[in-house]
Amino acid sequence: MSEVMGLKAKLGLNVFKEDKEFHIRIKPGREKDERLKKAVIVCPSGLYSANDAGDVEISVDGCLECGTCLIACGEEVLEWHYPSGGAGVQFRFG
Ligand code: SF4
Repeated sequence: MSEVMGLKAKLGLNVFKEDKEFHIRIKPGREKDERLKKAVIVCPSGLYSANDAGDVEISVDGCLECGTCLIACGEEVLEWHYPSGGAGVQFRFG
């Protein structure tokens, strides 16, 4: 019988190469926008979080480039593009 891996363990198999610049940014002045709270819930990697001041922050290291946050929040609050060639996620399914 094979061992069952949890989500975090599976995500931990992926490799992430840093890009020259972040491929996702919260637009300036939108950190408290209610739409960003959806990203905190839907991001499968858990990269969005709200700080004590109520600002939503993102750490792009670990991004799966799925686009879910952009669909949930919209282009009015997020700048989103794929990383440049050779950077970003390399999937290593366990
Ligand atoms: S693209 Fe996907 S994995 Fe990356 S931050 Fe958005 S929701 Fe999270």
